[in-house]
Amino acid sequence: MSTAAEKAVVNERLAALRKGLETAGAQALLVTNPPNVRYLSRFTSPADAVVLVLPGSAVLLTDGRYTAQATEESVLPVEIVAGLDDAAVDRLAGAHLAVEADHVTLARYRTLAGRLGYDPVPLEGAFTALRLIKSDAEVAALRRAARVTDLAFAEALKMMAPGVREVEVAMRLEATMRLNGADGSAFDVIVASGPRGAMPHGAASQKPLAAGELVTLDFGAVVDGYHADMTRTVAIGEVGAEERRLYDAVLEAQVAALAAVAPGRTGREVDQVARDVLAKHGLEEYFTHSLGHGTGLVIHEEPRLSKKSDTVLQPGMIVTVEPGVYLPGFTGLRIEDLAVVTADGHEVLSKSPKEFIAL
Ligand code: ZN
Ligand code: ZN
Repeated sequence: MSTAAEKAVVNERLAALRKGLETAGAQALLVTNPPNVRYLSRFTSPADAVVLVLPGSAVLLTDGRYTAQATEESVLPVEIVAGLDDAAVDRLAGAHLAVEADHVTLARYRTLAGRLGYDPVPLEGAFTALRLIKSDAEVAALRRAARVTDLAFAEALKMMAPGVREVEVAMRLEATMRLNGADGSAFDVIVASGPRGAMPHGAASQKPLAAGELVTLDFGAVVDGYHADMTRTVAIGEVGAEERRLYDAVLEAQVAALAAVAPGRTGREVDQVARDVLAKHGLEEYFTHSLGHGTGLVIHEEPRLSKKSDTVLQPGMIVTVEPGVYLPGFTGLRIEDLAVVTADGHEVLSKSPKEFIAL
């Protein structure tokens, strides 16, 4: 995207934030949460920076280590300073300050209040609604991240066999993603084989894969800061009839729920579609988490596809659809795709095959 187009997108975001500030009775916002700092500036080391939003301007404040990087990357003007919060306070020119209530620690809040001489306005969820709907550039980044994730799955399939350890499969996934343009892994790669499959978040262990097991791979590439997320479960050789039955039920639930992703549906409704399919197979009690979540600059974002979610899906929202069943002491599996809600339904960003694969 050209710098002019990037600036236009950032200006829209700033305008929306200023509206929220006005409602809250403030004129300036100290943006401290790293994904939000990046969201406004595109600076890729946002943990060491803040953005100060003022009535007529916005600036990225960072320190001397980042002079070259920040100047090159930031869509906003950059100022190199010694203390981030102090520098922000110095630049207020009388504007009443708000802070991100869901990020600033109590200690930082108290220090700021001491410097300001008043309690800054705690602004809640300022970025949630903004980040919920992805721009075309954000969807494009997620599409690229999904592509790299697909590539890694294809590579992992080539090396999965009895005796190969889970950690070796995880390393192949990670290496493939990095070598194909990913900034890194969206989260610790999950490789859970056999009974370990009953742990929905079973990070890769030293356990060797064995014939007759299901293996769940859950992983994703980060590209341009945007996090892909996909799960596939494959069989090592021939699995039992019960494992196969479980696979078919989860796949049926996943396909049905994915098909239900469209504007106007609530997170709860889509979640229920998967639950109903699993209930039909007598497996509802083994589906112990919610159906899915948004992704973006962090791996778990709004909207949620869950029993509690009233969020109405709209074009530009990103969702994962990831039903699973987990039978402690026996096995477990999950199938997950990444999708973007479109005007007339959705586009699936994950392209890897999900029909039953026995290696
Ligand atoms: Zn996942
Ligand atoms: Zn997920």
